[in-house]
Amino acid sequence: LFARESEFVKGVVAMSGLPPADRVEICFAGRSNVGKSTLINALTGTKALARASNMPGRTQEINFFTQGPDLYLVDLPGYGFANAPLPVVEKWQRLLKQYLSGRQTLRRAFVLIDARHGVKPVDAEILSLLDSAAVTFQCVLTKTDKVKAKDRDRVLAQVRTALAKHPAAYPEIVLTSSEKGDGIATLRAIIAGLI
Ligand code: GDP
Repeated sequence: LFARESEFVKGVVAMSGLPPADRVEICFAGRSNVGKSTLINALTGTKALARASNMPGRTQEINFFTQGPDLYLVDLPGYGFANAPLPVVEKWQRLLKQYLSGRQTLRRAFVLIDARHGVKPVDAEILSLLDSAAVTFQCVLTKTDKVKAKDRDRVLAQVRTALAKHPAAYPEIVLTSSEKGDGIATLRAIIAGLI
């Protein structure tokens, strides 16, 4: 699956712009700076791919990438930057809600959580949104190379406690470091299992 090149398809700003729902889809969500682009690049084995999502003007879009003929990888806009104007925030929240609750082919959301910080209130908002949209989500700890094992375990326990409140949570948490390559093969295998 991941031997194929991933390609950017389009950035979507309204439901009418979604590509045809003709294949399995998974999406990635996370606070700005959590390491989402780096992780998507590590997964797909490309350097420049998710940079497309971080380009000015693309950061409020839902970005679609193909991974072979049978899978869409969907990069949701990073959240948690307080400096975006309210109408902009409200517009993408509306789109996000519509997308998550309306997309038949969406199999799972991967919610990225920084291994140093754990689940923050702004993350919990997305988790609740996923609950109400009935989208199964799985948490991925990022940047595990930046924490000592003891601190990581403390954060892991905090994430587990937070997940227990969310009916749509898939219990297994994936530990990753895009820097070191840790957890990337695991995540690929999980994704391959969803097709
Ligand atoms: P995004 O805003 O979520 O797309 O975050 P980026 O992928 O742009 O990453 C934000 C910053 O974290 C960048 O400086 C990355 O180099 C760094 N980063 C991302 N993943 C890792 C990781 O696994 N380990 C370390 N040490 N740094 C990382």
